[in-house]
Amino acid sequence: MRDFEVVTVSGEEETKIQYEYMKKAREIVAKKEAELGRNLTYCVHTFGCQMNARDSEKLVGILEQVGYVEGEDEHSDFVIYNTCTVRENANNKVYGRLGYLSNYKKKNPVMKIALCGCMMQENVVVEKIKKSYRCVDLIFGTHNIYKFAELLCRTLESDSMIIDIWKDTDKIVEDLPIKRKFSFKSGVNIMFGCNNFCSYCIVPYVRGRERSREPKDIIREIEGLVADGVCEIMLLGQNVNSYGKNLENPISFAELLCAVNEIEGLKRIRFMTSHPKDLSDDLIAAIRDCDKVCHHMHLPLQSGSSRVLQVMNRHYDKEHYLKLVDKLRAEIPDIAITTDIIVGFPGETEEDFEETMDVVSRVRYDSAFTFIYSKRTGTPAASMEEQIPEDVVKERFDRLLKLVQEISSDKAMQLEGRIMPVLVEEMNEQDASLVTGRLDNNSVVHFPGTQDLIGTICQVKLKECKGFYYLGEIVES
Ligand code: SF4
Repeated sequence: MRDFEVVTVSGEEETKIQYEYMKKAREIVAKKEAELGRNLTYCVHTFGCQMNARDSEKLVGILEQVGYVEGEDEHSDFVIYNTCTVRENANNKVYGRLGYLSNYKKKNPVMKIALCGCMMQENVVVEKIKKSYRCVDLIFGTHNIYKFAELLCRTLESDSMIIDIWKDTDKIVEDLPIKRKFSFKSGVNIMFGCNNFCSYCIVPYVRGRERSREPKDIIREIEGLVADGVCEIMLLGQNVNSYGKNLENPISFAELLCAVNEIEGLKRIRFMTSHPKDLSDDLIAAIRDCDKVCHHMHLPLQSGSSRVLQVMNRHYDKEHYLKLVDKLRAEIPDIAITTDIIVGFPGETEEDFEETMDVVSRVRYDSAFTFIYSKRTGTPAASMEEQIPEDVVKERFDRLLKLVQEISSDKAMQLEGRIMPVLVEEMNEQDASLVTGRLDNNSVVHFPGTQDLIGTICQVKLKECKGFYYLGEIVES
């Protein structure tokens, strides 16, 4: 693994260099296609979070730029896994796929297999792949994804495994090709990395230190997206609330939100993830005052016990978190609040868990992602004593899930009968006469409609609440 990537060329120059490599890769691909008499196909498989999903759109953008076309599945000429390592089972899934692909590759000598993403930032993983999965042609990490065209060229011209992993970088390269998954909505990275070092989390070790994009580059990207038909954007960062701190001319996330809100043609602004320790009054005011910002806040709690929160290194306690929720609701009464909760953190007692249940009962979340603690090698929590027995964790997890679901379906009922704006996202998978969309608070609605409604915001009457989604009818498109 290479140390910190010392900046030798500027971001702009790097963009030019990478387009040169794309030209070179296109020539190699065209020559191969002429030999085979067919297109070369690709398959990008994404694991994990929305940050990874956005990175995969960059990989697809470059692959299509150099001439690859999308294959049906992993039986393609270039297969890349964009990996996640937040939980142990994510790693095992990748090893399972590699086992299958190494046999398939024997039948397709043109095939190239690549791995990138957070899992590749772990030395033990790279050593395991070098030893046990010789079928892999390219391994790179989270810090040099912008060099994909260059690495692709080297891979296409080589038969040996290429490994290029960096410990960290402070470079941000703009304007590389991106192929969006959705025509009407898009994720937009505003920052990379995390400085919080929550004791259970591997992200700071695999995504590096926080670095924010220049606001002018973010605004320019969003203006381009809107001109290209996008009406909803999701501002992405591990902790968007600390956006802008490392900029030469620092601005706050609240200021960025207000600037993005001015963009003509944009309809909806979402963002994730917010860390409670950096949730400021300015940000709450910006959510209240910016008409395009969705009234939905994802505010991870992780635990309701102040003692556990301290061991987790979360920098807030139970009272502080509850005060934030009160402030949010005082300023934005219809705000939907969702969260992340970990059950079974080392040393968690029944009393600690009851504190979590107490916060859930008092906050009454619209929904919650509940996780069983997953030991991540290299994090402080992994070497903590008192790992909780599985049966105890499971029993607590079931109790929590029951409470969360009772509350969120009860809350969902409150909107039944209301007419609300819905962004139509797709045709319903089960029933072709229905379309599926999302409310401002991110809840799902199915209602009768046609393909041409996709990407538009319709007024929909929420006729029936089905617990976690609604059945509706269009009032006005
Ligand atoms: S804020 Fe904490 S949990 Fe979130 S990515 Fe950073 S270290 Fe991980």
